[in-house]
Amino acid sequence: MIEAKEQKRAKCFALETIGCRRNPDESEKMATQLTILGLDRVDYNQEADLYLINTCTVTGRADASCRNSIFRATKRENGAVVVVIGCYVDSESEKIARLNGVNLVVGNSEKDSIAKVLSNKFPFLFNDKPVLAEPQAVFDFYQHSRAWVKISDGCNQKCAYCIIPRVRGKLINRPASEIVDEINLLSKNGYHEVVLTGVHIGQYSWDGIKSIAELVPFILDNSSVSRLRLSSIEPQEVNPDLVEIIKKGGQRICRHLHIPLQSGSDRVLRVMHRPYSSKNYLDNLHIIKEKIDGIVIGADIIVGFPGETDNDFKESVMVAKSGLIDYLHVFSYSDRPGTESSKMSDKVAPKIIKERSKILREISDINYKAALAKEIAQTVYAVAESKTNQNKKQYWGITDNYLKILLPENLGGGREILKLNVTAAKDKYLIGTI
Ligand code: SF4
Repeated sequence: MIEAKEQKRAKCFALETIGCRRNPDESEKMATQLTILGLDRVDYNQEADLYLINTCTVTGRADASCRNSIFRATKRENGAVVVVIGCYVDSESEKIARLNGVNLVVGNSEKDSIAKVLSNKFPFLFNDKPVLAEPQAVFDFYQHSRAWVKISDGCNQKCAYCIIPRVRGKLINRPASEIVDEINLLSKNGYHEVVLTGVHIGQYSWDGIKSIAELVPFILDNSSVSRLRLSSIEPQEVNPDLVEIIKKGGQRICRHLHIPLQSGSDRVLRVMHRPYSSKNYLDNLHIIKEKIDGIVIGADIIVGFPGETDNDFKESVMVAKSGLIDYLHVFSYSDRPGTESSKMSDKVAPKIIKERSKILREISDINYKAALAKEIAQTVYAVAESKTNQNKKQYWGITDNYLKILLPENLGGGREILKLNVTAAKDKYLIGTI
């Protein structure tokens, strides 16, 4: 006789990640803890017993995205637990905790022990009393074919507009051996591209490894990862050693750097406490472009920093049009609570910020199109990133030099690096064939 035993349904969780490249790594670490404890993961737009929102607060727009995600979870009214986590919480904890339907807020410092926090607060989410392990290394990135590995957290710089040091704290680097172990685990799990992330990765040092330019070869020598990509790195930290390492790395280091500019005006850069001039910045880009064939360089730029005049803005336009920046991430200035610039007078009118942002975005589109055109008839190496449409069997890929490419139909869906020929370039992407 078969013993009738009631099978308890495993509880489901859905996790939304907002913001910069530091958050995916931390989200996956949290997800790993929960899946090990028996929770099933579903998409954020599906029914779940637990919704987690890993937030960002770098701009006013990021705050709005977080509120939108929180609202999408709370409006379901299905009795699910809604937990808001991360930078937005560290900035405005009480305000978020008061939002209708939010059950718990968790700051950055508790991300590593999220399973413990949740099992104490909401034991009914776990079928059995969970046996809590130490925070786990990430081995899988949900629905992603590239992986992110955090090498450090926090920042010691004090840019006048930036809330990150307040919510992320001082710079803390991760042991190099731990980084290598995580990368090896991800490689074993089929990831060919790993992105090194952190708030201020150019300040990396650990034990005998004195800089990011030493960390990169250490990783390459001690892992089998196919290719590494550096996430955003400060201009003053892209030094000749690092450029040489990227050049020597061949296909194992992506020919792509994202180097925040923030303003083309030296006056504004000084008020922002950015430690370089626009000339230093451009001279550096010039060297990088000369040394590394085919490298693509992106930049962040802030529009409408308090006191930004027409002339200041013109200087930003000149740098954007220098032919050395291939794409721009344009941020409309917004006051972040507690920052130096939030207390400055002479705020730029929203209408002007909107007009200036539009001008820079148009320049960025032109620059990106020119970068795409250079790839026609070239061979490129891409990782499939996402489906063009949920119902289609076609994928977008990303090349080592960070260009978007439309893959041939029925190719993609894995984590491997695909070799493609570029047959054409559209306005915003390349077209590839095998
Ligand atoms: S370098 Fe400046 S902008 Fe970047 S995180 Fe640190 S304070 Fe913020």
